[in-house]
Amino acid sequence: MADKDCLFCRILDGDIPADIVYESDTAIAFRDINPQAPTHVVIIPRKHIATINDIDADDQAIVGSLYTAASTIAREEGFSEQGYRAVMNCNKAAGQTVFHIHLHLLGGRVLTWPPG
Ligand code: AMP
Ligand code: ZN
Repeated sequence: MADKDCLFCRILDGDIPADIVYESDTAIAFRDINPQAPTHVVIIPRKHIATINDIDADDQAIVGSLYTAASTIAREEGFSEQGYRAVMNCNKAAGQTVFHIHLHLLGGRVLTWPPG
């Protein structure tokens, strides 16, 4: 299931180090290497899924688990009541650069809308 050419699969396999903050049966989360907020965590499924367009009906529980991870981490980081953003980019026009789906969790500052 892991893709040897996928950066996030390599993090899952332990080939590339990451600051892991959360792990479950279906997902892991680690601190973004180029943070855009005081807390910027990337939450990924253990299953390699390239883009939102590749999510199958069978993957719904896995994708849902990314959001329960987000709320858990937000609570641990102390900004669940203040507010935060959980966002997933799809394909190039949205800025997706790593083709293994991931939820960006951004918190710890006021976030403007719309994003750029
Ligand atoms: P996206 O542009 O939506 O595909 O998001 C990819 C994210 O992965 C970016 O925010 C990058 O900063 C982040 N990233 C890339 N390489 C690493 C890495 N080795 N460890 C942690 N985060 C990374
Ligand atoms: Zn992957």
